[in-house]
Amino acid sequence: MVVLPTNRIDHLRYHQVSNELFIYAMIDVLIHSFTLGEFRPKQSLGQNFLSDQNYVVKIVNELVDNSIEGRSVIEIGPGPGSLTRVLLRKYPKMTAIEIDQRAIKFLNEKLPSLNVIHQDVLTVDWPNIAAERDGPVNIIANLPYHIVSQVLFTLADSHKAINKAIVTTQYEVAERIVAKPSTKEYGILSVVFQLYATPKMNFKIPPTVFYPQPKVDSALVTIDFTKPHPGIYSVDPLYLKKVIHTAFRQRRKMIRASLKELIATDGLSLPEKWAQLRPEQLHPAQFIELTNDLYQNSKVNYSKRMESVSSPDPVTRPSYASEKPNIWRETKQKDSKQYEL
Ligand code: SAM
Repeated sequence: MVVLPTNRIDHLRYHQVSNELFIYAMIDVLIHSFTLGEFRPKQSLGQNFLSDQNYVVKIVNELVDNSIEGRSVIEIGPGPGSLTRVLLRKYPKMTAIEIDQRAIKFLNEKLPSLNVIHQDVLTVDWPNIAAERDGPVNIIANLPYHIVSQVLFTLADSHKAINKAIVTTQYEVAERIVAKPSTKEYGILSVVFQLYATPKMNFKIPPTVFYPQPKVDSALVTIDFTKPHPGIYSVDPLYLKKVIHTAFRQRRKMIRASLKELIATDGLSLPEKWAQLRPEQLHPAQFIELTNDLYQNSKVNYSKRMESVSSPDPVTRPSYASEKPNIWRETKQKDSKQYEL
C-alpha cells in the first residue's frame, strides 16, 4: 500500500492550485512514489529528479502556451517524467527530448502518448523544430546542471526559434543571468541573456525537493526571447562575443588595459570615451556600442558580416527557421572557468 505524503497535500491546498491540477498532482505523488524506487539516477547525466509535487505544479504553472494542444511545448530531459506527467495532461501534443535510453523506455511504457525524441539536447536544431511547429517554441526543463550554460547558449544562438525558456538552474547561475552591472555576479551570462532576452528569476528552489539532493540551492528562471535588444541586429555577434569574453577576463581593469591585446592583434583603435571605464560597469547594450566603435573603422571585414547576420530572408524562410549560427554555443565548459561565466 502507498501512503500519500500528507505534507505535500497540505502544501498544495495551501497554495490553492486549481482543483484539476490538485487531482493530477495527487495521482503523480502516487505514481512517483513507485518511480523513484525503480529508476536509479545517474550523476553523469545530471539526474536530480523533482520529487516534490508542490514544486512540480509551481514550475508547470509558469508556462503559458497557446499552441494547439501544446504542440509548441518542448521539455528538455523529462527523465522518469515528474514534470512531464503534469505537462502532458495540459499539453497532449508536447514533445520531450531525452538522452537516457532507460528514461525513454520508461516513458514509452508509462506515458505512451508522449512524443519523445532520443537526442542530446546540445545537438538539437531549434530552428527546424520551430519550423515543424509553424512558429517559435516554449521550452521547459529541470536542466542537468553540468550543461546548463551550454544549453542556454544554444538557445541564444537560436533565439528566433524560441519564445520562452522556463528552466531550473543552480541558484548561483540564475543570479548571474539576471545580475546588474557593478555587482560581483555580473558577467558574460548577464550580458548575453539580457541582450538576447529578458530574464527573470521566478523563485528559489531548495535542495530538499530533488532526489538525490544537489549540494546547492536552485532557482526557476524564465528567459523570454520574444523581445531581444534591437542592437543585436546591428552588431556582428562573433565580434561581440570576442569583446565580451576578452573584457570579462579582466573585468575590473580599465577597458584600455583589459582589451589591450585584442586592440593590438585586431588593429583596432579605442575611442577615448571607453578607455577609463571598467567592463563590469558597462550595461549590456554598451557592449554592442563598444564592439561597433572598435570594429567599424577597423581593417577586419566587419560590416559585411554584420549585413549577413542582420538580414534573414523573410521571403524564402521565416526568421525563426533561419540557419543555426552556433556562435555563443562554442563556449565549452572549460571556457566557463576561463572566462568566469
Ligand atoms: N525532468 C526530470 C525531473 O524534473 O525530475 C529530470 C530532470 S534531470 C535534472 C535532467 C534530465 O536531463 C535527465 O533526465 C537526464 O537524463 C537528461 N539529460 C542529461 N543530459 C542530457 C542531454 N545532453 N540531452 C538531453 N537530455 C539530457
